Amino acid sequence: MKRVVVAPGDGIGPEVIPSALEVLRFFHPEWEYIPVYLGYECWKRTGDALSQRTLETLKKADLILFGAITTPPDPKYHSVVLRIRKELDLYANLRPVFGEGFDILIVRENTEGLYSGIEWQEKDRACTLRVVSEAGSRRIARFACGCAKRRRRHLTIGNKANVLKSDSYFLDICMEEAEKAGISIDKKYIDSLVLDVLQHPGRYDVIVTTNIFGDILSDAAAFLEGGLGMLPSANIGRHQALFEPVHGSAPDIAGKGLANPIAAIRCVSLLLKYVGEKPSAIEVEKAIQKTIADGIKTPDLGGTATTEEVGRAVLSHL
Ligand code: ATP
Ligand code: MG
Repeated sequence: MKRVVVAPGDGIGPEVIPSALEVLRFFHPEWEYIPVYLGYECWKRTGDALSQRTLETLKKADLILFGAITTPPDPKYHSVVLRIRKELDLYANLRPVFGEGFDILIVRENTEGLYSGIEWQEKDRACTLRVVSEAGSRRIARFACGCAKRRRRHLTIGNKANVLKSDSYFLDICMEEAEKAGISIDKKYIDSLVLDVLQHPGRYDVIVTTNIFGDILSDAAAFLEGGLGMLPSANIGRHQALFEPVHGSAPDIAGKGLANPIAAIRCVSLLLKYVGEKPSAIEVEKAIQKTIADGIKTPDLGGTATTEEVGRAVLSHL
């Protein structure tokens, strides 16, 4: 029995999440599903993008299926996703990237590094503190090694240890953990790593890196796949996990039935893998492939199908 909190959010979030939810319900009609209202629209209506009550509900969730949230350029508005990551301590951000001849898992540290949130402004400069702690590095390193053990047992450590003390610290801890786990490693400077992943994706298995480097690397790696509408991600904590498409709320296409629901549906595949149901996860992926092969695609993939039609087609293949 799992408690699943469903947060569609803004823009195309409420359009793509229903398709994903139907797929999840197909496998687990017995689970508890709790919808929550949060985000920019919620902020405009209630003055609060993430109420205390909603946060408490999220904290009690085993699994969270998250749509997307519009981040307005209003200084009074604080990012909901960042707050959730922090409050729930979702320390590992996972981005699978796979296709013909490659299958990569990017594991990004999600709570510290340059996104430590420790910032201040002085008279003639602004500072952001890059924090790399032993505990933070060790847990992400162990997590990445755990993933590598279940895959091809290879870990690449993306770093800039030649310039940054904080990265040299991160690198040492990752190497220690990899050695303990019996995982083969290679170290790569993040700048050349980004290029090499794009040129030779087949060389990589699991890649672990610090927060901002992981952010940049994952977006660059999106180039290897079919675009924003196709990519899922997971944010993993100690006892819970949040799954969200990589894309944002895409206000330009919202409300028109044009949004590609595949990224959201792939979130369900990740979720099923997370709870140990790999065969179901593979089944979802196959259903997606069949749907695309049948030409049932939204306009971003060159088709004419609507969000709902794609969702229904995927479901029909399960
Ligand atoms: P936000 O401020 O929420 O990040 P955004 O305008 O940056 O919104 P994104 O969702 O990040 O929008 O995506 C950028 C563009 O990619 C959108 O303008 C949209 O046209 C396209 N896009 C994103 N997601 C999808 C999707 N699921 N299906 C089709 N097109 C998409
Ligand atoms: Mg965006």
